[in-house]
Amino acid sequence: MLPFLFLDFDGVLNNNDFLKRAWAGRTKEQVTEAWLECPDFLLDPVPVRRLNRIVGQVSFVLSSSWYPFHSFETCQRALAGHGFLGTLDHVTPKRFLSSKDEEIADFLSERGISYGQASKQFVILDDEPLFWFQQNQIRTDDKVGLTDLDIYEVARRLGLSSDPTFGY
Ligand SMILES: [Mg+2]
Repeated sequence: MLPFLFLDFDGVLNNNDFLKRAWAGRTKEQVTEAWLECPDFLLDPVPVRRLNRIVGQVSFVLSSSWYPFHSFETCQRALAGHGFLGTLDHVTPKRFLSSKDEEIADFLSERGISYGQASKQFVILDDEPLFWFQQNQIRTDDKVGLTDLDIYEVARRLGLSSDPTFGY
């Protein structure tokens, strides 16, 4: 079984400067409306393509607040439109007011995967701090988004080979 990679979107597949440029000239309401209509303009293709280095070696789990505002298919299509060569394989279960920690814990528990210690079975890419998964999280910097070093760290923790040229 491939290891799971929990994938957040905002702060991972975009960054603050990118968002400011994407928002330019629109009010907050207009941005929200445009995002609900079609969210693609808020994803940065550069970090999206970085994911290609580990395609085929992990099982991607959508762990973003974009869902369920956007369907799983819309999220998948947005990634593909920005150059992602893999597929989203799963999504974390959502409950009313559930936190990301709870959603990831539910997902892992359903599969009998223990957590609370370092693991080669999963890793989490997220810019927001998680509380139960500090040893499993690679926390991106929302000023920068997903970097080559972050991908290298995913590969190192999960024992993957990360081809530095694939996907470019
Ligand atoms: Mg985020």
